[in-house]
Amino acid sequence: MRVDVLSLARMPGGSMPLDFVIDADELLVHEDENCRFESIRFEGIMLNIENEVFQLTGILRVVRTGICDRCLRSARQEYEISIDEQYRRSTGSTEMDESGEFYGYAGHSIDIDQAIRDNLLLNTPVQLLCRDACPGFCPVCGRDLNEESCNCQAEPDAESPFAKLSKLLQDDEDVLRT
Ligand SMILES: [Zn+2]
Ligand SMILES: [Zn+2]
Repeated sequence: MRVDVLSLARMPGGSMPLDFVIDADELLVHEDENCRFESIRFEGIMLNIENEVFQLTGILRVVRTGICDRCLRSARQEYEISIDEQYRRSTGSTEMDESGEFYGYAGHSIDIDQAIRDNLLLNTPVQLLCRDACPGFCPVCGRDLNEESCNCQAEPDAESPFAKLSKLLQDDEDVLRT
């Protein structure tokens, strides 16, 4: 997605409203049959903050659909990501500058895909869940706890095959948290 800043460049302090839907295919973000970006919409402004320096500010509204990581039912997740990125004129690179403070642009239009992609990947929840409190399967008896409860103890029996799986998943979550 390119934002034409030719007229905005002549208005120091001026801003331009932006509202558009971004095609996930164009962003080249990873998707598979278990998890895909249903809709990515940006609403915000491009601000001319000083000579050849622009600020992209707004909200990215994301809808993701796929399979719940815990119970394997279909899941639909909506979340918002706030965007606040600066653009400075460069010789052509649209990547983030080495300083990590701004993206480059050349000519009279700004390609915002890289910033949208970076923000999306950094802020998308690791797990796709049908709901935050989804209990998933009992690690001991394997029952779907969305449908029925069970009388298993909270601590899975060490002999159970589900206990090993539960331990592995727990370790995974610990890794993700660090
Ligand atoms: Zn679920
Ligand atoms: Zn159980």
